[in-house]
Amino acid sequence: MANTDAIYQDVLIVGAGLAGIDTAYRVSSELPQLSYTVLEQRAAMGGTWDLFKYPGIRSDSDIFTLSYPFLPWDGTQTMATGPEIKKYIEEAAAKFGIDRHIRFETKVLSADFDSATDLWTVTAVHDGEAQVYTARQLIACTGYYNYEAGYEPDFPGIESFGGQVVHPQHWPEDFDYKGKKVVVIGSGATAITLIPSMADDTAHITMLQRSPTYIMPVPGSDPLTVAAKKLLPAQIAHNLTRRRNSMITLGMYLYCRRFPKASRKTIRTITQKMLPAGYDVDVHFKPKYEPWDQRLCVVPDGDLFKTIRSGKAEVVTDTVDHFTERGIVLGSGRELEADIVITATGLKLLAFGGVDVSIDGAPTKPHEHFAYRGFMLQDVPNFAFIIGYTNASWTLRADISARAIARLYRYMADHGYTHAVPRTGDLVLEEHPALDLTSGYVQRSPDAMPKAATVAPWMIRHNYLLDSLDYTRSDVADSIEFGTVAASAQDPERTAVG
Ligand SMILES: Cc1cc2nc3c(=O)[nH]c(=O)nc-3n(C[C@H](O)[C@H](O)[C@H](O)COP(=O)(O)OP(=O)(O)OC[C@H]3O[C@@H](n4cnc5c(N)ncnc54)[C@H](O)[C@@H]3O)c2cc1C
Repeated sequence: MANTDAIYQDVLIVGAGLAGIDTAYRVSSELPQLSYTVLEQRAAMGGTWDLFKYPGIRSDSDIFTLSYPFLPWDGTQTMATGPEIKKYIEEAAAKFGIDRHIRFETKVLSADFDSATDLWTVTAVHDGEAQVYTARQLIACTGYYNYEAGYEPDFPGIESFGGQVVHPQHWPEDFDYKGKKVVVIGSGATAITLIPSMADDTAHITMLQRSPTYIMPVPGSDPLTVAAKKLLPAQIAHNLTRRRNSMITLGMYLYCRRFPKASRKTIRTITQKMLPAGYDVDVHFKPKYEPWDQRLCVVPDGDLFKTIRSGKAEVVTDTVDHFTERGIVLGSGRELEADIVITATGLKLLAFGGVDVSIDGAPTKPHEHFAYRGFMLQDVPNFAFIIGYTNASWTLRADISARAIARLYRYMADHGYTHAVPRTGDLVLEEHPALDLTSGYVQRSPDAMPKAATVAPWMIRHNYLLDSLDYTRSDVADSIEFGTVAASAQDPERTAVG
């Protein structure tokens, strides 16, 4: 049964990151009559852009598609820094009055759906005290990774290392690395951001990678964006740049997937031009996988390559055999001396912020359910979640999902429904990975995410154009079972959806 002493909200959103603010905006604009609260475990909003504080932290997809369609981005650079993105999220929340609805330092632990009342009972903890909420609708905008700890492989002998080991997810405040010998382990977006950002201050910096990643330079700013900003009203310029950039990214992705051989060759040629003559491109920048089997990394104005060219940074492709007091002994036998080792070794995948979800007291796990249009779960009533793209800006899909959620709530309100449950019916679905990447963080946790199928509406597409078309053309009620609980079970003050 739903808890009668609990705080009631029509809609509970968990997470005040990019997606949480987007979803709050879409739901509150479409249905202003609904009460809603955003529960956020941290003391500030911004999610990823509040958590990560390492030097140079920035977006690695273009900021015009990472920002919201409803709030023009105010700069002209292609990428934005972490603090700029956090500020933008805060501005959006303040502009649309969402900030008043956020309860900070409130970590959601569990959520149980009661099918007699069509209400969620959500248990959270704030200041060490348990808090209980009830809500008709629950939306997880909790991102995709564990906030508590990043992924750190078990490096032999790491305890004997006399220097400092830092994971980028827990960057110490005022961390002093001036004049130090630094080794960054990793070759992903974080490692390639850290190297140029730290190189000027360190005595020496090495990027130690087990295997290479595809890395492409992108222009830090482009003349068309600058011209559009100068000549057109802000919202129109934003829309045009956003649309153009989303199509360029999608075009690049499709080109890489359709023509892996040609794209490999193109990337190699570009990379080679950016590196010093005679540099061993094939050892350090030729991955074993095809482009976009793993997220393709980009560097604004080729900053990583410039740092390598300047001689301030070295790339070493080798394995960690063991740590010593002075540094790292590699598989080849070479020893890298270090005062500081940064383990840019990735994230731990986590669905729904680790919230224990149950239905009528029966626990349920994300991977037991097929995702419905990438934002709801098969057989789980009144529950939605936001997961963005991995091959394009997160917000492109986050916003489609947020609009689809708001549209569903509108439909429910118009018809007086109190529950909506995606059902597969008689369909026998073939399973397909939800995150179409071979990256370590995906492979390490195959059961962390909901399942995807190969047919709509149960597939998770990685194509913004098709998803946008699907959103405008699809029937809101397709494959959804709606219903209304008996009036006696409902609080008369509540609307049908809420
Ligand atoms: C270093 C880094 C760089 C990235 N760069 C890009 C990029 O350039 N482009 C791109 O598209 N994507 C990028 N991503 C992916 C990035 O996470 C998304 O862009 C986007 O910020 C995700 O927004 P979100 O709101 O969905 O999730 P998050 O930003 O992760 O926010 C989730 C929020 O939910 C809260 N939360 C989680 N669990 C609970 C709970 N149980 N109770 C209460 N609150 C909870 C968290 O505290 C957080 O505030 C990057 C990720 C990382 C780690």
